[in-house]
Amino acid sequence: MERKNAWLSYTKEQEAELEKISLSYRSFLDKGKTERECVREIILQAEAAGYQPLQKVLASGSAIKAGDRLYDVCMNKTVALYYIGEEDITNGMNILCAHIDSPRLDIKQNPLYEEADLAYLDTHYYGGVKKYQWVTLPLAIHGVVAKKDGEVVDICIGEDESDPILYITDLLIHLSAKQLQKKASEAIEGEKLDILIGSRPLADEEDEKKKEAVKENILQILQEKYGIEEEDFLSAELEVVPAGKARECGLDRSMIASYGQDDRVCAYTSLLAMLELKGKLQRTACCILVDKEEIGSVGATGMQSRFFENSVAELLEGMGQYSGLAHRRTLKNSCMLSSDVSAGFDPAFAEVFEKKNAAFLGRGVVLNKFTGARGKSGSNDANAEYIARVRKAFDDDQVAFQTAELGKVDEGGGGTIAYIAALYGMEVIDSGVAVLSMHAPWEVTSKADVYEALRAYRAFLKYMTH
Ligand code: MN
Ligand code: MN
Repeated sequence: MERKNAWLSYTKEQEAELEKISLSYRSFLDKGKTERECVREIILQAEAAGYQPLQKVLASGSAIKAGDRLYDVCMNKTVALYYIGEEDITNGMNILCAHIDSPRLDIKQNPLYEEADLAYLDTHYYGGVKKYQWVTLPLAIHGVVAKKDGEVVDICIGEDESDPILYITDLLIHLSAKQLQKKASEAIEGEKLDILIGSRPLADEEDEKKKEAVKENILQILQEKYGIEEEDFLSAELEVVPAGKARECGLDRSMIASYGQDDRVCAYTSLLAMLELKGKLQRTACCILVDKEEIGSVGATGMQSRFFENSVAELLEGMGQYSGLAHRRTLKNSCMLSSDVSAGFDPAFAEVFEKKNAAFLGRGVVLNKFTGARGKSGSNDANAEYIARVRKAFDDDQVAFQTAELGKVDEGGGGTIAYIAALYGMEVIDSGVAVLSMHAPWEVTSKADVYEALRAYRAFLKYMTH
């Protein structure tokens, strides 16, 4: 049952569309390197496509009806979009779900220190990272500093060509005899991932022996440029990510290399399928793009929070249809594609894959019946009947798709958000795009798979019925 390479199936028109999508996807990656930046960009694009804030529509008292396009935001980090269909919403919605947080290094709350005439920011990594991959790279800081007076200062350093970049050092090879004997997980320890941010002492004529003059100089720059002082780090969310734009990869330009493709590749293509919808829709379409997947979907902005459930309750209220039972039915009767990246088969590490059940770059969107680890622990398990309906929808639109497991049995594993949505009793299957070097500072996807993901989401919104 080997699946064909999608590149071989394209018409000239499809090739042109594929390149167009790749370009807009790369632009999305560049604009959204944090969950907050993604939400900002998603709202911009949604509003341009006629979406209105759900809370504003509710406050205005106008009834929500078929054809309405709405969005709801949670703490600037998670967003839900709705396109209301003609059919009774308690028959359920077709939901596209993906996450917009990615592994990175977060700046600690008390980060700034000076040592040996060098100034550093201390970090704590977020999500699963191979720490040794994050040293000696050009890095950027993205995020916000919330001040006591209520002002929230946006920070982005290291992306503009004229910006300085940030950097984490590694030990020189000449003195690395001991380091190189260590296990890869210990060669660079978490506490060693400190960002080098300065080396020039503040000139102070009154007190030439002033201590920590390099740190003082950094503080002065922060004050001048952003109006923030050291205590403001206490209420900041600053994320350190690789600096630079998403690029085409390969001499044939068939791939995309970028930071944060897990899971913005699924988030962007889900968003695009949603924003393309036009005219009358039978079944209500929904797209949820959530935060905190990389650390277990916890917190107010993760999939485990009540945000989505509450948002659907508000939606029903706005449609004059809210009751406890109507709410439960709406969720239970929904169908979801819970999209997240899959491990792309990598010939350099073939030993961890079982080839018949691996995802290959270029062979289309991936369906995972289950995820989890060991004996499928922590997995959602999509119903066979549901998978049959999903694959019919894909086949009806000639979408290239493949099925996969995350590596060989007993090699490891991983979880997604599918099992959380499944708690409502809705049909959910994991799907997504194959990635090489998942969670590395630069990850690689195939343009064909990005395109097939979009085509799959289109088919899903079009064909799935109650
Ligand atoms: Mn991940
Ligand atoms: Mn993911």
